[in-house]
Amino acid sequence: MGSYATREASRAAYNRWYQAHPTANAERNKRDRVRVKQELFVLLGNVCSKCGYADHRALQVDHIHANPVRTKWHRGGVGLYRAILRGDYPLSDFQLLCANCNWIKRVENEEHGGNEFKYVN
Ligand SMILES: [Zn+2]
Repeated sequence: MGSYATREASRAAYNRWYQAHPTANAERNKRDRVRVKQELFVLLGNVCSKCGYADHRALQVDHIHANPVRTKWHRGGVGLYRAILRGDYPLSDFQLLCANCNWIKRVENEEHGGNEFKYVN
């Protein structure tokens, strides 16, 4: 069929585009995100700065003196990690916290925006 050649040509064009745009490769992006995360984690000591917990799955980059306005565009995830690695923010403003320590800090600083979890000693 005539359309077969067209589809082949279309596929070839797509493949050329794909090779010219490696960031369109989701798998590569995923590896890149992991690499960026690991790079930053190592720079930040690779363990929770409060309790020493070392499992990356529960470690989070914490802005030591939280300023939601300043970090508004990079509140979390790889966007923030890249910004820190680029030098957009001083590394000394950040620390690694495990999920437990991060949550405790949030409650103590009332960063969650409400009083419902406030400690009543
Ligand atoms: Zn911890």
